Amino acid sequence: MAEKRDYYEILGVDKGSTDKEIKKAYRKLAMKYHPDVSDDPDATEKFKEISEAYAVLSDEDKRQRYDKFGHAGMDGFSQEDIFRNANFDDIFQGFGGSGGFNVEDIFDMFGFGGGRPRSNRQGPQRGSDIYTDITISLEEAASGLSKDITIRHDVTCPSCKGEKAEPGTNTKTCQTCGGTGQVKQVNRTILGQMVNIRPCRDCNGTGKIIEEPCHKCHGKGTVKESKTINIKVPAGVETGNRLRVSGEGNAGEVGGGSGDLYVQIRVKPNKKFERDGSNLYYEKEISFVEASLGATVEVPTINGAIDLKIPEGTQSGTVFRVREQGMPIMNRDMKGNLYVTAIVVVPQKLNEAQKDLLKEFADISGEEIKTYKKGIFDKVKDAINK
Ligand SMILES: [Zn+2]
Ligand SMILES: [Zn+2]
Repeated sequence: MAEKRDYYEILGVDKGSTDKEIKKAYRKLAMKYHPDVSDDPDATEKFKEISEAYAVLSDEDKRQRYDKFGHAGMDGFSQEDIFRNANFDDIFQGFGGSGGFNVEDIFDMFGFGGGRPRSNRQGPQRGSDIYTDITISLEEAASGLSKDITIRHDVTCPSCKGEKAEPGTNTKTCQTCGGTGQVKQVNRTILGQMVNIRPCRDCNGTGKIIEEPCHKCHGKGTVKESKTINIKVPAGVETGNRLRVSGEGNAGEVGGGSGDLYVQIRVKPNKKFERDGSNLYYEKEISFVEASLGATVEVPTINGAIDLKIPEGTQSGTVFRVREQGMPIMNRDMKGNLYVTAIVVVPQKLNEAQKDLLKEFADISGEEIKTYKKGIFDKVKDAINK
C-alpha cells in the first residue's frame, strides 16, 4: 500500500479545524463517496479512508495523539480501536439517501459489523478509552517493573451518580419518543420510501427529559478526575507495545461500563547494547595481545558482568554468542542471546621497549618490516596531534 495520507488532507481541512468543520467536511465527502450512490470505482476505498480519518479526528484523545505523533501515534490500534468511540449517528441522521445509509455499513465495510462498537440504540454507552505513554530504560524492560502513573479520566459524577439531573429535581418521560429513545423517520428517496429508526433528538436517545441538569457535572454525568494507577510492565517489552488496563478509561453512561486505559511503551536506546527483538549486541574492544594469545575478558550483560573466553588467534570482527544473556521474551520463559563482537585495537602509542619487542617478534616470524623515515608532513602531523 502507498504511504498513508494525512488525515487532515484526506478530509480537506486545516489542522486547526473545529470539530464542526471536520464533521461538515466528512459529511460532504461521505455523501459523495458512499458506495451506494457513488459511481467512482474506488468509492469503497475512498469511503473507508475518509471514515477512518473522521473516526480519528472526531475523537479528542485520538486527534491529540495523531497531532503529536502522526500515523505512528495510531500504531497498535486495530481498525476496531480506531472506530470504537466514533460517532457516525448524527452524521447519517437524515442523510436522506438510501435505507442502506446507516452506520452499520461502515463497520461492515471494515469487517467488524457484528460487534458494532457504539450504538445509541443498544442500551447505555460504554465510556471511551484513554491513552498515555511511558518511557523506560532497557534494564527496566529486561527486568519488568511496576510503576505508578497518574492519569486523568472521566468518572461517574458523584453528585448525580451519572443520572445527569440535579439530585432532587424532576426527570420527565420524553414526549417525542414516549420514553423509548427512538423515533421512526420515513424518507422519500430516489430509491423509494425508506424507514429509518434513529435516536430521538429531543432526549438524545435517553427517553428522558431532564428539567435541571446536575450542577456539578453540568448534566454530563461524568467529571474529570486524576488517579494514580500502578501498572505492571512485563519483562521483555519493546517500544510500541501497549498495555491495556481494563476499566480505567473514561466512565460511560450508567450501566455502560468504563473504557480502558492503554499505556504505550517506549524503551530508551541504551548506550552499551543494541537491541533487535530479544537479542542484544555489544562491541568489546580487546588488545591485539589478547586477540593473539587468547584471554578471558569481562563483558557486561543486561544482568551484570560475565567472563568471556577469547580464543587465541581471534580476528577483529569475530562475533561470540552468549546464550540466554539477551532480553526476556515476553510471557515466555525464554531469553534471547547476547552477541559480542570482538574489536581488536591496535595500540596507537608505543614506547621504545615495546617497539623493540615487536621488531624482534617480526624478526622471529621472518617478517620483513620496511620502516620509513619521517618526512616533513609527519612531523607537522605529530606536532598537531600533541
Ligand atoms: Zn452530575
Ligand atoms: Zn425522546
